[in-house]
Amino acid sequence: MSEVINKIALVTGGSRGIGRAISVLLAKEGIRVAINYASNEKEAKITEKQIKEEGGAEPLLIQFDVSNSDEVDIAIEKIQKTLGSIDILVNNAGVSKNGLLIRYKNADWRDILETNLDGAFYCARACSRLMLKKKWGRIINISSVVAEMGSAGQVAYVSAKAGLIGMTKSMAKELGPRQITVNAITPGFVKTDMTAYMDEKRQQEIVAQIPLGCEGTTQDIAHAAVFLASEKARYITGHVLAVNGGLYM
Ligand code: NAP
Repeated sequence: MSEVINKIALVTGGSRGIGRAISVLLAKEGIRVAINYASNEKEAKITEKQIKEEGGAEPLLIQFDVSNSDEVDIAIEKIQKTLGSIDILVNNAGVSKNGLLIRYKNADWRDILETNLDGAFYCARACSRLMLKKKWGRIINISSVVAEMGSAGQVAYVSAKAGLIGMTKSMAKELGPRQITVNAITPGFVKTDMTAYMDEKRQQEIVAQIPLGCEGTTQDIAHAAVFLASEKARYITGHVLAVNGGLYM
C-alpha cells in the first residue's frame, strides 16, 4: 500500500486489543502512527515495541481522555506539531458497562456515551480541520455488531455505537466534497480485555450463532481498517463494514 507512505494516523485506544492491532498494521504499511491511550502507558509501550520490531516508523505515544474535548484539542495540536498533520483518524477508543435498563445509573449512561460517542465526535471535529486543508482524509469509526442487532443489557453501549453509524453517514456527506471519506466498521465478537468478562459458556453460545464458526481476531478488524485507510478505498464513504463472521447480516 505504498500510496499511504508519508501519511500520519491517530488511533485512539491504541494501547490494547483492536486498537493495538490497527496501530501495528498501519505502521507496517509505512504510516506514522500516534497511539492514544487513557491511562495504560505500559500497554501503549507494548504496542510501540511491536511496531519497532516489525520495522514500522517510530510511533508517538500520547495520553489523553477522548471524552474531554479540551484534552482532545490540545493533544491533536501536539500531534500536528510533532508529526506534521493527521491524515487518518481511527476512532477506536471504547468502554462498555453492562446492566439492566431498570437499574442503569445516570452516571454510567453518561460515561458510556461520553467515551464511545462524544469522544469520536471531538476527535473527528479536530482532525477534520486538518484534513479539510489537505483535501484528503480518512475517518474510520469502530462501531459494533450490536449497533445493528441490539443487545439486552447493553442499552447505553448500543446507543453510543448506533450513534456512531449516524455520525459516520452525516460526516461522510459533509466531508466528501474535500475527498475525506468517513466509514464505520462493525466488529463482531473479538476476544480482548473488553470481552474478557464473559465466561466460557457465554462465549460458546455466541460462537454457536456465528456462521463462520469462530470468533474474530483483532487482525481481522485491523485489515478492514487498513483497507478503508488506503487509496484502494477512495470511492467508499458512508459505508458500514461488518466484520462479524456472519453473526448479523
Ligand atoms: P479494549 O481491549 O478494552 O481496549 C480499549 C481501548 O480504549 C484501550 O486502549 C483504552 O486505553 C482505550 N480507552 C478507553 N477509554 C478511553 C478514553 N476515555 N480515552 C482514550 N482511550 C480510552 O477494547 P477492544 O475490544 O480492543 O475494543 C476496541 C473498540 O472496538 C471499542 O470501541 C469497542 O467498543 C469496539 N468493539 C469491540 C468488540 C469486541 O468484541 N472486542 C466488538 C465490537 C466492537 P487504556 O489501555 O489506557 O485503558
